[in-house]
This record gives sequence, structure tokens and C-alpha cells, in this order.
Amino acid sequence: MQSSVSRRQFLKSTVFAAGTAVAGTGLANAATNAHEEPLATLIDISRCIGCEECVYACKDANAHKFPEPEKPFPKMVPARVPVEDWSEKRDVTDRLTPYNWLYIQYATGVKDGKEITLTIPRRCMHCQNPPCVKLCPWGAAKQEPNGLSRIDSGICLGGSKCKNVCPWDIPQRQTGVGLYLDILPAFAGNGVMYKCDRCYQKLEKGEQPACIAACPEEVQVIGRRSEIIELARERAKEMDGYLYGLEENGGTHTIYVSPVPFDQLTYNTGKGKPHLNPVKDTMADGSNLALALVIAPVAGAAAALGKFYKHIKEEA
Ligand code: SF4
Ligand code: SF4
Ligand code: SF4
Repeated sequence: MQSSVSRRQFLKSTVFAAGTAVAGTGLANAATNAHEEPLATLIDISRCIGCEECVYACKDANAHKFPEPEKPFPKMVPARVPVEDWSEKRDVTDRLTPYNWLYIQYATGVKDGKEITLTIPRRCMHCQNPPCVKLCPWGAAKQEPNGLSRIDSGICLGGSKCKNVCPWDIPQRQTGVGLYLDILPAFAGNGVMYKCDRCYQKLEKGEQPACIAACPEEVQVIGRRSEIIELARERAKEMDGYLYGLEENGGTHTIYVSPVPFDQLTYNTGKGKPHLNPVKDTMADGSNLALALVIAPVAGAAAALGKFYKHIKEEA
């Protein structure tokens, strides 16, 4: 126990604590330097009290990135694509939406013979080898050297490939926004996909992501993946617990620790409410790997064109 306390103090005093010069430098370096080991987050669900401070902090910090759709919506292309409009339901917090990138999932399980309720912060897992990035045909999704993945709303055409290949269906679409509207206004329609971007601008400045800084229970810890895994294993040992994210989808930059086995938790899943099941490595599948190789140069060119168009528009 002593060693884990010392360990926590060490972590707090170096990479992880918000607001100190050392922490700032550590996070900023890891956020921007390709040679730095990617960042990961530990989410200890035994500590979460479900207060939703993190959810509202995320909404506040990212409000300027949320979609402001043009209405009426133009014709969807292709026509079978459903309109997805969350702009009148911005207050929804019980699932993922384009305006809610983090939500609290309620689960029950049995520990030491007693039924317990757990609250689980859910958002993008930030996979090590993210299919949403590798299989986006337009190069709109990208992975930073620090491991976070994000979708550029100025390039995304809303085709939802990222959501289809994500094992947890994380990205969420808003109709009536995006580059598509400018390029082909008469046929526009798919919109843009949104998800947690790990507060990448805050990380670049050496600040903690908003959800981590706001949490009163220190449920999340961010740092280099190897250190986070070490800490996660210590926590799991202390609580006789279980880990999720080491292997799922080939490994993620989000590691959950739970006092109850993940396959023995009961919780609601469905649209915008991801599961916690075992997940095979999507990108280890031969056809996805081959597709990624074909897509890469096309996506690179499309992304460059998209960025050029965005630049011209901003200059105009
Ligand atoms: S702020 Fe912390 S304790 Fe509250 S719901 Fe979020 S993770 Fe849980
Ligand atoms: S969880 Fe889904 S959206 Fe997030 S990085 Fe992995 S594949 Fe992409
Ligand atoms: S890291 Fe940032 S964008 Fe992602 S859930 Fe936390 S506050 Fe939201």
C-alpha cells in the first residue's frame, strides 16, 4: 500500500498534476513530440461517484467546436442516409451525441457477494491503431504522435465510415454542417462526425483535459502509456480488480480499472451507449489492412485539398 501511495504522489508531482510548471512541460512535450511515448488515460471506475462534473466540463471546454447546422437541411446524399439532428437536443447527457462527447454509463455488478452500482465515464477509447483514422477515405480523422485521435470538422464529409469501423460506434453525426455544404450546396447532406478529441489544444499547452481537471474524485489520470499501465495494474491488484483496454482493438490509450469483471457488469447499451465487451483488433483483419493501404494516399490527397479549401475560405 505504501508503495502505491508513494507512486501516486510521484505521479502527481511529475507528469500528471494540473497547473504546475513541471506537469505543464511534461504534458506539452508528450503532446507534441513524436519521440515521446504516447499518452494514455487510466479511468478507475471504483472512484467515480457519477456527479457528471466531467461531462459538463467537457461541454463547456468544447462548446466552440460543436456544430451550428444550417437549416432547412439540404437533400441527403445518398438519399438513404438518415438526417441526424441533435441541435435541438444539446442538453442530452445520457449518451454520446455531437454535443456530448462524454457520458456516464450506469452499471451493476456483484462484489464480495453484494450488488454494487458503478458509474463509468465513456468516450472515445483513443485506440493505438485506430480504424477510424486508418479507414477514413477523406483523411479527416488523424492520429497525433501523442496517440490521441481526432476528426477535423473542416474536412469531414460525414460519411460515417469512422463510426462503422469503430468497435464501440463512438463518432456521432450532425447533419447540415461541414465542407460538403460549401462544395456541393445543392446536394449537401451528410454532415460531420464528432467525438472526444482528448482536448488536444489543452494538451499542447501542457494543460489537463477538461474532464480530468474537473473531477473531484481523481477518477482519471493521464500520462505515458507504460506508466499508466503500471498504475492500472497496481490499482487492480489493490482492489482485486480487472482491466479493459490493454488488448481491446489491439490496445487503446484508455485503460479502465473495475472491481467487477467487465463481462459480469450489467448496463444499457445501444445508440450512443457503447459496450465493454472483448474486441478483436480491427486493423489486424487482412481486408481492413489492405483497404487502409489503398486509402492512405487518396485520403492524404483529399485531406490536403480539404485543408487548402478551408484555408482559402478563411482568407476570403
Ligand atoms: S467528474 Fe469524476 S466522479 Fe464525477 S462523474 Fe466524472 S469521472 Fe465520475
Ligand atoms: S474508440 Fe472508435 S472512434 Fe475512438 S479511436 Fe478507437 S476506433 Fe476511433
Ligand atoms: S478529453 Fe476533452 S474532449 Fe475528451 S471527454 Fe475529456 S473533456 Fe471531453
